[in-house]
Amino acid sequence: MPLVFPAHEVTAGTLAALLIFNSFLFILSCSSDFPDLRKHNNCMATALTPAIYAKLRDRVTPNNWTLDQSIQTGVDNPGHPFIKTVGCVAGDEESYEVFAELLDPIIKDRHNGYDPRTMRHPTDLDASKITNAMFDEKYVLSSRVRTGRSIRGLSLPPACSRAERREVERVVVTALAGLKGDLAGRYYSLGDMTDKEQQQLIDDHFLFDKPVSPLLTCAFMARDWPDARGIWHNNDKTFLIWVNEEDHTRVISMEKGGNMKRVFERFCSGLKQVEHLIQERGWEFMWNERLGYILTCPSNLGTGLRAGVHVRLPKLSKDPRFSKILDHLRLQKRGTGGVDTAATGDTFDISNNDRLGKSEVELVQMLVDGVNHLIDCEKKLERGQDIKVPAPVAQFRK
Ligand code: ADP
Ligand code: MG
Repeated sequence: MPLVFPAHEVTAGTLAALLIFNSFLFILSCSSDFPDLRKHNNCMATALTPAIYAKLRDRVTPNNWTLDQSIQTGVDNPGHPFIKTVGCVAGDEESYEVFAELLDPIIKDRHNGYDPRTMRHPTDLDASKITNAMFDEKYVLSSRVRTGRSIRGLSLPPACSRAERREVERVVVTALAGLKGDLAGRYYSLGDMTDKEQQQLIDDHFLFDKPVSPLLTCAFMARDWPDARGIWHNNDKTFLIWVNEEDHTRVISMEKGGNMKRVFERFCSGLKQVEHLIQERGWEFMWNERLGYILTCPSNLGTGLRAGVHVRLPKLSKDPRFSKILDHLRLQKRGTGGVDTAATGDTFDISNNDRLGKSEVELVQMLVDGVNHLIDCEKKLERGQDIKVPAPVAQFRK
């Protein structure tokens, strides 16, 4: 409770004492609210100090989104069994500015030294530049490239109202009706699907999981499920758009086998058409030159691009150097059922770890070179030859 005096009794001395006392009370109230992060190992827990918390706790974005709401998922999930998580989300485009004192160091940490205040993020969707992107199909079972895009002016999934969520669905689905030729398809709303149809799409790796991930639920993204969620896909199920899962949209190109070049070509041309169709209707994607495309999770800023393969590596995955090799190649390993699943057997989801500060072409090429290297290692081990840990891929941090 702040101290107040009747105005006529206030002298300069009492005023100063009052100010000091009230700021003391404020710091005390902030520190008694500071989350217990002693057992945490996500990026937020490393970056959040009592001083930053005190500075940001009472700020709100234009959509009334707060710091405590941003970090709740990282407070409730100290770590993740399979990947290092960021531990916070944005509620709207403005979150990245309003909470910059916390988010900038998190972004720098997660994106390997990229400085979001001084650096510029490049975009390059020219798939013709990619080389060596036909993988050996004895090892690579499927290839996929995804990104996310957010509609400017509407709150992101952790913060959106029901009306905003439905507006995202309306804007996106109306625009997608304009896709033609190989990309022509239709929208399947989660609410209109049977449980069986939904489960089949999940099992076939086309659709996002049910809202079981604590990363999602603790970030308020499962509210009102399944209202205004769904999947749009073309007839071949090679170009897919998720609506209102972790991001307003996720745009995916995928197919069985190892032809990453074709997958990326379809990704680039489809994405450009989707953007054009959205813009034609007077909407635009959230983007700025420092952070690239703005998405819910700071780990996805920049390109939002995760290019990955399901790849069989029975020998290499049992080698003690496997993790270090992945780390040096800036690759991430997941289970084949998605981010919340353990790897079962010899097959892994291997994808690029970085999203920001490098273009789409650079990241896909990095993934391609990395996966080719892993397959070479696997073949060497099959022949009884030794393998080496490659030098770390050069990054922003030296
Ligand atoms: P995202 O980063 O796109 O959200 P998740 O790890 O949440 O990815 O997985 C979403 C779905 O995509 C899962 O069903 C997963 O099996 C599928 N998936 C991811 N990569 C591939 C791939 N290379 N081939 C086939 N399916 C994939
Ligand atoms: Mg996901």
